[in-house]
Amino acid sequence: MRLAQLVLRSFRNLVDDALEFPPEGVAVVGPNAQGKSNLLEAIYYLEVLRSFRGAPDRDLVRFGGDVFRLQGRVVTAENDAPFQGGRPERTVAAAWQRSGGRKKVTLDDVETERLGDGVGHVCAVLFTPADLALVDDGPHVRRRYLDIVLSLSEPGYMAALQRYRQVLSQRNAALKAGGHSPQTHAWEPLLVDAGSRVTVFRSRWIDTMAASFSRIHEEISGGTGARMTLDSGIPGLPEGQLELEGVSEALEVALREARDRDVRLGTTTVGPHRDELLLLLAPGEGAQDVRRFGSGGQRRSVALGLRLLEAETIRRRRGREPLLLMDDVFAELDEARSMRLLDLLHRTAVGQVILTAPRKAEIRFRQEGIERWGIRDGRILR
Ligand code: ATP
Ligand code: MG
Repeated sequence: MRLAQLVLRSFRNLVDDALEFPPEGVAVVGPNAQGKSNLLEAIYYLEVLRSFRGAPDRDLVRFGGDVFRLQGRVVTAENDAPFQGGRPERTVAAAWQRSGGRKKVTLDDVETERLGDGVGHVCAVLFTPADLALVDDGPHVRRRYLDIVLSLSEPGYMAALQRYRQVLSQRNAALKAGGHSPQTHAWEPLLVDAGSRVTVFRSRWIDTMAASFSRIHEEISGGTGARMTLDSGIPGLPEGQLELEGVSEALEVALREARDRDVRLGTTTVGPHRDELLLLLAPGEGAQDVRRFGSGGQRRSVALGLRLLEAETIRRRRGREPLLLMDDVFAELDEARSMRLLDLLHRTAVGQVILTAPRKAEIRFRQEGIERWGIRDGRILR
């Protein structure tokens, strides 16, 4: 997929504009605080309909403004699988208004029924220095990573997850209000149904992609393998590849056995909302949790590996070459890792790339092949 055009209105410090992107991409170069990350934030907003920095929508409206609007025209690239329905291009737009606080998303000018229908149409993967948090922060960031990757690649995942969250909050409310009441237990079958689906989706993706993850990491790090596994929030799961039936049974039993504790604590203590995606270095004997034992560079390589894996998932599951958005990614890698990453990108990333750097010397990828734009005070200089 590639982004052909982006129309900006009152987004952050970016000057209103209609940007036409070359098919191979562009490097945006400018000093600090000019709007480089804001530009990538705008593009990625159209993919996931929220800020990658976790900013609330109201922060995205230009200071003093009332509404921001973003519109992207995405085009299927030559090497992409054809769109379902054979649509060669699509316009995605999102707008948010401070007064009323409403988000409106349209696909080809028709408002989507649910926000979820507007997600995933750009096929973008974003790399930022903040990705280090994927390794460093608590389990919730890795669950969110799984949720985004799976929502964008597995039909049915988002619906199962939303249902799970809904029922979970209802069971938790009942636990707080009524303790061991029939109402509390009445939520369990629904929780089992949605929760086991979420677990099976997650574990299948991890099983399918684990070898790629290890290979990618080996390439960036220059030889060290890495492994990812699901440390499930459901105790007593069967060994081996997980099937819906086995997971449902385990979750049903786990919920029943946790009832006393859950009532005491007023919250549900078992289930996929307690999952952890474990990231291990040097798999085999003596494998280490990278979060606890990895060096800065190792943790950064693993985080990069997760983003490259996200790109690989889009290629495999959706038959599209992802649009890569890279926010100053080479800044904190040592020379050897930078070179190996470059090498990997040269071989695998054949689609459009939009990257930013504070200095032109730091445009490492595609120095020759792409246009260079400047940016000053939110104005893109072509
Ligand atoms: P760096 O190289 O330091 O990462 P950058 O070019 O990526 O810089 P951005 O993060 O894009 O910079 O931010 C540029 C500026 O946008 C900041 O100085 C900030 O004050 C401004 N800004 C952020 N939100 C808004 C907003 N809602 N309205 C207007 N300006 C904003
Ligand atoms: Mg920035």
